[in-house]
Amino acid sequence: MAISTLSSIPQIEKILQQAFLAPFIERLSRPVVADVVREQVASYKKQHLQDPENHPFSLEQLYHNIEQGCWLLNQQRLQRVVNGTGVIVHTNLGRSPINAELWQQVTEVNTHYSNLEIDLNTGKRGKRKGLLQQLMQYLTKAENTLVVNNNASSIYLLLHELAKGKEVIVSRGEQIQIGGGFRIPDILALSGAKLVEVGTTNITTTQDYLDAITDQTAMVLIVHTSNFKIRGFTESPDVKELASALPEHVILAVDQGSGTTTEHMPDEPTVASYIDSGADLVCYSGDKILGGPQAGMISGKDTLIKQLEKNPMMRAFRPSRIVYSLLEELVVRKLNQQPEGRGVAQTKSHIALPLLEQSAQALADGFNDHITVVQSEMTVGGGSLPDQDAPSWSVQINPSQPAYQRSPEKLLAVMRQWPLPVIGVIKRDKVQLNMATVDASEIPYLRSQLAEVLL
Ligand SMILES: *Cc1c(COP(=O)(O)O)cnc(C)c1O
Repeated sequence: MAISTLSSIPQIEKILQQAFLAPFIERLSRPVVADVVREQVASYKKQHLQDPENHPFSLEQLYHNIEQGCWLLNQQRLQRVVNGTGVIVHTNLGRSPINAELWQQVTEVNTHYSNLEIDLNTGKRGKRKGLLQQLMQYLTKAENTLVVNNNASSIYLLLHELAKGKEVIVSRGEQIQIGGGFRIPDILALSGAKLVEVGTTNITTTQDYLDAITDQTAMVLIVHTSNFKIRGFTESPDVKELASALPEHVILAVDQGSGTTTEHMPDEPTVASYIDSGADLVCYSGDKILGGPQAGMISGKDTLIKQLEKNPMMRAFRPSRIVYSLLEELVVRKLNQQPEGRGVAQTKSHIALPLLEQSAQALADGFNDHITVVQSEMTVGGGSLPDQDAPSWSVQINPSQPAYQRSPEKLLAVMRQWPLPVIGVIKRDKVQLNMATVDASEIPYLRSQLAEVLL
């Protein structure tokens, strides 16, 4: 009996022609959807044969399972989400969104051939950097700037090229994990440089560094302690004082992290300020406060940058034209003080507080007790600006369904399955959406989705 019912399951090819699978084929590709269909048919047959009582045959149920399987894969595709976390540069949410205008501007150069490595003035083979090196001089005050794929590569490259087989002095207070398993000591070990730790976790003085210097010392590395702050009594040396006290043979490198230049971030030292203070090299990410694509940048002394450029690993670390074109566009806009050059960190952290409250009210309007407007905090995040929380406004969602009341996580999970997924946070056992990171244009969508869940 079971066997004959099962034989009524259409062939895989026939199932693939079902209308409900057309959008999935478009988003996931035909072979991927065909695999889901095969898997679901096989497991459905197995279940039915093992326990026909509890799994009576239903083609509708089988199709539902196939749809579920496709949906799970669909959710793995890279897609836009609404950021309701209040963390402006959120590493899990793609850090800095690229300004749409900049993205438009670089379409042509990326969808046609370009002069990536040909000098249009001489016709000879040219450098990959384009005009970026000159542009960065104005932004950072550094003689030269090198671009790699991310800041982790910057650090590896400068240690490998300039400190391999030698000693690098790092403060104990800066032995941080930057996230995702990226640890300064591990990078140091891989690069072939020897780590010399100085000071204590909360106090490191200029003298501590000087006492640790030997003829084997290649570099002092200062790491801006981004997403980690030692609370209480801390002391770190003045970079200027350290720079002038270091002997000639020791390079002073700073991992600045966030790439702050013209963005006016309180208490975040800019790349230029470190260069001014006498740092030989400063490295930072392109997609944090700078607001560009994922990249690592090293700015500093021309002779050192030229040396880094000759490292064989440069071939592995060099970015694509997509990155160079976006950075060029971004930096020109920054230098011309145009809004497109600001980057998301500057733009969103400077939105007037009353505007955020207005947004929250607009979102909550008409929902009565189901959505309340609450004070909250935003943070720049992304391994920048430790403890730099600023005031913000959020909406708190107060569902009447007992399931959501018991488990705000459940509501968060439902919001992640919306057509445009929404990432919220839980505060005081309630789901909140922070207006600092929600776009005004996203509010009508949020209202209509929330109405379905709440009303
Ligand atoms: C973010 C960060 C890094 C890692 O940069 P990626 O671009 O993610 O590789 C390294 N150092 C500091 C201080 C950082 O803030």
